[in-house]
Formats: sequence, C-alpha cells, structure tokens
Amino acid sequence: MSRLYAALPIFAQNLACSISGLRRERERFTPHFRETLARWEQSADWPRARLRAQAAAALARVVERARTASPFYRDLPPACADGDPDTAIARTLATIPVLEKSVYRDRFDDLVARDLPRRRLVRLATSGTTGTSLPVLHTRERLAEWYAVAWRQRRRAGVSLGDPHFTFGGQPIVPLAQRRPPFWRHNVMSRQVLFSTYHLAPEYLPAYVEAVHTLPARYVQGYPSAVHLVARALLDAGRPLPAGRLRGVFTSSETLLDLQRADIARAFGAPVFDYYSATEACIAMSGCPAGRLHVDHEFCLVEVEVTESSADWERGELLATSLGPDAVPFLRYRIGDVGTRARGACPCGRAGESFLWIDGRIEDYVVTSDGRRIGRMDHVFKDQPLVAEAQFVQETDRALRVLVVPRPGFDAAAELGLRAEIERRVGAGLAIEIVRVAAIAREPNGKLRAVKSRVGRLAA
Ligand SMILES: [Zn+2]
Repeated sequence: MSRLYAALPIFAQNLACSISGLRRERERFTPHFRETLARWEQSADWPRARLRAQAAAALARVVERARTASPFYRDLPPACADGDPDTAIARTLATIPVLEKSVYRDRFDDLVARDLPRRRLVRLATSGTTGTSLPVLHTRERLAEWYAVAWRQRRRAGVSLGDPHFTFGGQPIVPLAQRRPPFWRHNVMSRQVLFSTYHLAPEYLPAYVEAVHTLPARYVQGYPSAVHLVARALLDAGRPLPAGRLRGVFTSSETLLDLQRADIARAFGAPVFDYYSATEACIAMSGCPAGRLHVDHEFCLVEVEVTESSADWERGELLATSLGPDAVPFLRYRIGDVGTRARGACPCGRAGESFLWIDGRIEDYVVTSDGRRIGRMDHVFKDQPLVAEAQFVQETDRALRVLVVPRPGFDAAAELGLRAEIERRVGAGLAIEIVRVAAIAREPNGKLRAVKSRVGRLAA
C-alpha cells in the first residue's frame, strides 16, 4: 500500500479501488476472453475422447511454436502425429525434457518466445514463498484464457459476470493502523467489496459478520484461511447466512483444508468450489460440486510422477504443460506441487482427469524420523472440532511444533486426543509440542501456510 493511499480518506480509497477495478476489468474482459469463455463452455462437458483429441492438437501446436520461436527448444523433435490422441500425447511428451525451475530461471532469456514484441508482455512476480522468486511473463491472450477458466467455473455455479461479490485476498486495502470498521473497501465498478484480510482479529470480527449480512453479494472469492476465519465468526455468533443467498464460495491460492471447507459451506450457506493454479499460468484445475479438482483440459496437460498409489488414486509431483499462446513455453514444467489424482470418474459426471486434492508445495511437508514425507497434515483435525486453526512448524528432523488456535472447550483431554492423532500419522520418532496461540501469523503475502518445514524444504 502506498503512503499516499494510506493517507486518503475512506471515500477516496473507495474511489481508488474502483478506478483500479475498472482498469483491471478492461485488461481482463477482452474480446479474446469472451470468445474463449464461450468456446470452453461448449467443450466443458465433452466426453474424454474428444477432450484428448483437442489436447493432442493443441500440444502439437505449442511444440511447433516452441521449436520455431524459443531458442531453448530449437532442437526439440516435432510432435508425434499418431492418429490416437493418447498415443500422440504420450509419445510427444516423452521427447520433451522436464523443465526444472532452476533451468527455467537460468535460461529464461532463451526460453522467451521470439515471435512476440517484448513490450506487449505482462510481467508478474511469483510469490516466492521458498525464497526464490522467478521471472514470469505472460501474453495478454494467455491471461484472458486464464480468466476464462476461472469464469467458466463460476458460471457453472450460477454466477454471472458483474454479479456483486466479496473478496478476501492478500491485497492490503485498509491501513493497518485503522482500528474501527469499515475493514473493507468498495470497488463500485465491479460491484466488489474488498475485505481486508489483515484485520481478522477477534475484536474486529463482529464488524465482518455484520458486513457480510448487510452488504450485497452473490458469491465470495478469496483465500480459504481468510474466508474460514469469517466463517467461524459467523458460526460462533450463531448467524450463518441463509442457505441459497450466495451461489458459491470460490477459494484459491492456498490449499483448501477439509476443516475449512465444511465450516465455510455451513457459514455461508453455499457450496465451496476450490481452484488450483499458479502464477506461471501453465496449469489450472477447477473444483466441482463433488469436491474434486478437474484438470481444465483446454488449458493444460498435467502429468503425475507417481511415487505412491492405491486402487483409487496415484500421488506424486506434478508436471504441467501449457496448451496456450504463452510468452514462455511451459512444457513438462515441474511446478513444485504434489497432487493426488483419482483413478475413477468423478461422481459429478464431468469427464476428464480429476484430482482428489493438491497435497501442497513440495517443501511444505512434515518429514518423519524414518524419512517419510507427509503433506496434508490437516487430516489429523478431521475429528477435532475444538481446533479453529493450526500450523505445523518443523525446524529439525527430531521435533514438530504444532500451533493450535483453540476453540472454547479445548481442554487437556482434547489436546491428548490431538497428540495421539498426530503421532498416528508421523510416528513416535518426533517430539511433538502442542502450543496454544491466539492467532497464526500469515506470510507477507497474506497467505496461511499449514505446514512450515525447514526439513521438508531441505529435502526438496
Ligand atoms: Zn467432479
């Protein structure tokens, strides 16, 4: 937040939010966005075979463009032209080396496609939670496709462009020094209420509860951890929103935890749809009513380097191949996340690949004393209704600190139960310390990290 913005009176801050909202809308809702959204809404329910045929053709196009426009890929062989899309995709991918982030960073200038004027590209910064930020350049066309994927998901849930909505994101829009409501600002152009996620303290939450009830909205979007804090406040106040007022709650940017999903759905009276992507815009998965994440097949191909599997799923690191008009071709790019892909069809009926969940960043793993790596530690809270929020902090391979924000009634017995549940997953080799805290600190970008493991990071 600039000092100038912070010094403005609230009405002028609202005006500033509205002006930047208008600028954002102009950038996002381009003719290419509308045309792509219309096309992808048509293909959303295509059968698998048709989706794969389309993906094979798109892969051939991006490989050809990489070969001709990106010096890094000069020697890449042409795509396999087999008539069977599965074979064509598999054989083509087999000829492409995995793109590691270190190579991406070191060879960035060689990777950038030469068929685009550099000044037309949009530069984004990765959030760099691992301490290494990466350069990211996008074409406006690719950004439009990115928004089309997100809007397809929303429209399937019954939300329209222009509907009023609440946003709980990382954007600082209310000065930290402000101690009285409103802890939100209005972007009038987009009919958006931007809530500060930096004022979600117990003494301010009643104001949020009141605002959520009185301000107009058809849907909510935001970080699951922030939306969850408000959901808990609504439930604790005995004031959930009436079911059906909202069409959906759309979460993204962090792992949506099971305990968050249930509370959010109950508090906002609406289904929760998660969304998974990355700043590189080379991967996208959209949550469905059955709670799975569907790969957006028009947008990307996703491979799983399987390290663990069962009859129902397979798990491993994800490799993303972008199928769009990128500034930098993303071919088999190791995105740094682990995912669990379902083997069977999704109960929601949508065809194509679906993931049960994204386990998280590869470095966000608890490492057990026998060397196992465990993501999704939130599963230990399944039967722990007295835990409001938690974070696992692992600084050595011998100990695990668990920060817990207790709910009323969290007593010694509950703590013992929680400890037993954690031990059941990580084994007896780690000294577990449960620390009760009033709140869990967010990262500088406003996100909550469920697991912070120095050990996991080193192992990654
Ligand atoms: Zn589904």
